[in-house]
Amino acid sequence: MIRQLEADAVVVGGGTSGCYFAWRLGQAGLRAIVLEKRRLADVGQETDIFHMDEVRFPEFGLPPPAGEELIGYYPTGLAWSPDLLVQNEVRYPFYVMHKPAFHQRFFRYVERENGQILERAEVVWPLIENGYLAGVRALHEGAPLEVRGRIVVDASGIDGTLRTKLPADIGVETDPIREADTLYVCLEFRDELPPGTPSGLNFYPFHKAFWNPSRGKGAILGIGWPGGYDEAWQRHRAWREEYYGDPGRVLKRTQGRTPYRRSPYSLVGNGLMLMGDAAFQTKPFSGEGVTSSFTACQIAAEVAIAALQLGDVSREALWPYNVRYFRGQGAKFASMFVQLPAAAELQRREVDFLFHQGVIFSGEDFRQMNLDYETKMSARDTVAMAAKLAWGVASGRFSAGSFKRLLGVSSAAAKVKAHYQRYPEDPAEFDAWVHEAKRLWGERTA
Ligand SMILES: Cc1cc2nc3c(=O)[nH]c(=O)nc-3n(C[C@H](O)[C@H](O)[C@H](O)COP(=O)(O)OP(=O)(O)OC[C@H]3O[C@@H](n4cnc5c(N)ncnc54)[C@H](O)[C@@H]3O)c2cc1C
Repeated sequence: MIRQLEADAVVVGGGTSGCYFAWRLGQAGLRAIVLEKRRLADVGQETDIFHMDEVRFPEFGLPPPAGEELIGYYPTGLAWSPDLLVQNEVRYPFYVMHKPAFHQRFFRYVERENGQILERAEVVWPLIENGYLAGVRALHEGAPLEVRGRIVVDASGIDGTLRTKLPADIGVETDPIREADTLYVCLEFRDELPPGTPSGLNFYPFHKAFWNPSRGKGAILGIGWPGGYDEAWQRHRAWREEYYGDPGRVLKRTQGRTPYRRSPYSLVGNGLMLMGDAAFQTKPFSGEGVTSSFTACQIAAEVAIAALQLGDVSREALWPYNVRYFRGQGAKFASMFVQLPAAAELQRREVDFLFHQGVIFSGEDFRQMNLDYETKMSARDTVAMAAKLAWGVASGRFSAGSFKRLLGVSSAAAKVKAHYQRYPEDPAEFDAWVHEAKRLWGERTA
């Protein structure tokens, strides 16, 4: 006989998203079982060190990091122009943290609220009954296990292990992530760095690279690039060698993938919710996803709690998660996905020009981007920016083509954002909304 377990919610994936959701449910007196395919001690080890914005801790009800979680605190960072002549100070504090310790904190939170986390429990198949997700089949330490729940959550990371196994009529897109929609993140940990190399948080937007603090006087030299690990490591090396040669000693290299695409148009089905990397909720400008996923998990938990308490976990009952997510953070992220490719195509001399003029890449622009996921510009700022760009074109430092492209994407992004802000409250209007969304994204609508 197959071993069976039951809870209010079954969560696939014990990363930060799944645990945050389970913790919130537990606080409301509901019980979640989290299934994690790895050993809990291994979760987060591959990334080792990560960054989290200070401002998000109180926002998500989390005490700030301390003890072995805390590696450093940096109130400001620097954004570098490609010619390295401009370093814009970004006043936006980040913690540098030990990721495995942060995960351990979440495992404790879940268990403290009566939740259960099963390690080495790999979900292999969804259980669907009468058109509802009813649970999952898993292998727990190699033995078959069936876990039933009134809501099933896919928080399994970029590959969406549950979502991609669902039938199309469940109401969410089930296609696996494509290589073209993936950022390959390569991290090189170095120490014994010579004098003159950067310290603190440093970001190189043209190269999509960063030089961030590690333990002691060490640094992490990183990059996030599309097209595969080979391409990303080549770009990493070219950037490092051009600016810093081969500084100090390499301690280790690690790599991982992060999604770089719009979220599925719907995040819910009957008894189903998607969140975190499994729902592509990473920040489009950096690939970071821990706190932007918390925004979604927080909404999802509030909606799930209400649905479970009412005893209705239908797609309609879970729909407010879609509405609240896509009208807020989702609309801003969608807008960024329209604008960023144009910024990424700018030539090096054009990015230098913008840095020197304080346009798009100013310290305040980066602060607002991190804080609000958009930059606010008054009509006067917009006119001043257009004038600077026009002057750049006239003086040959900015191409007319790029100027036109930036104007074009800015208007396209505004339309996409407005459309997401009109995400339908009534699921019956969803198909028409998707039809228009596909037109705006340039996707086939057949
Ligand atoms: C190298 C690198 C550095 C990064 N640095 C940062 C950073 O500094 N700050 C930041 O905010 N973001 C960073 N990110 C992004 C961030 O790591 C992710 O956005 C975040 O971890 C997403 O959390 P998640 O819980 O949704 O998914 P994950 O962390 O991927 O967790 C999913 C979990 O599900 C488990 N799982 C998968 N399939 C199954 C299955 N079938 N059955 C059971 N369990 C399963 C996995 O083992 C995993 O533990 C980085 C990403 C990479 C690759």
